[in-house]
Amino acid sequence: MEFKGKTVIVTGAGKGIGREIVRMLVERGAQVVALTRSAADVEALRGEFGCRAIQVDLADADATRKAAIAALPADFLINCAGTTELQPFLETTVEAFDRLVAVNTRAPMIVAQEYARSLIKEGRPGAIVNVSSVASFVGIPDHAAYCASKGGLDGLTRVMAKELAPHGIRANGVHPTVTLTPMAVKAWSDPEKAAGMMKRIPVGRFAEPADIAEVVLFLLSDQAAMVNGISMPVDGGYMIA
Ligand code: NDP
Repeated sequence: MEFKGKTVIVTGAGKGIGREIVRMLVERGAQVVALTRSAADVEALRGEFGCRAIQVDLADADATRKAAIAALPADFLINCAGTTELQPFLETTVEAFDRLVAVNTRAPMIVAQEYARSLIKEGRPGAIVNVSSVASFVGIPDHAAYCASKGGLDGLTRVMAKELAPHGIRANGVHPTVTLTPMAVKAWSDPEKAAGMMKRIPVGRFAEPADIAEVVLFLLSDQAAMVNGISMPVDGGYMIA
């Protein structure tokens, strides 16, 4: 898959899966506009990959809309930024719930609105990939707000797929299992929990960021021209186990 001459917006580009997506896109000829939070990551993305990098806290709706508009024009959009906080269901706080929904659900909606509006205005086609999680399919203990926020994102993906496809814009979701990134360290550092999860993955390992990035790039590409509105697990068979 070649992305020569294409501009791609990637949120959460500073670390983990987002960073690997940027690396792969740049290797395949794309110009990346990165939206991410930490100043050090913004500098690194500019220096290492020649990205146009915009620093933004995606929990802030107004700042997110401004950053999305500043990132345009673009050919493709990857909503990859995500965050988690572990709390048992009975102890899930309203504040944590709102924080996760703001970053994992509301921000992808805002960025996609601005991206799609600009394409529709110019009469150009496009594609969106929203990075969800297997946590939107199953209940994972201590992940109530996270599961809910990703389930909400899937709903958005399906509505985008229906409403935007007539304008030539596809939207799909990618659902990783545990992927070896800073987020996984936060969520799966308890060896007992990690072993239980690993046991349910038939291929016998957690994912690497590149496993996810390859599928994201496929869904963006013209090779996937007839793929619209799907929720694609990238989970080594976790969902069938
Ligand atoms: P990481 O925590 O490793 O990286 C997340 C990136 O998103 C960072 O660059 C982070 O920036 C950025 N980000 C987070 N919150 C904000 C915010 N409020 N504003 C701007 N940028 C923000 O996560 P992963 O790479 O592991 O996750 C990428 C996506 O994949 C997420 O949507 C996640 O939910 C999903 N996923 C991950 C899994 C895993 O096991 N790793 C499993 C299933 C799904 P900063 O560090 O500066 O805050």
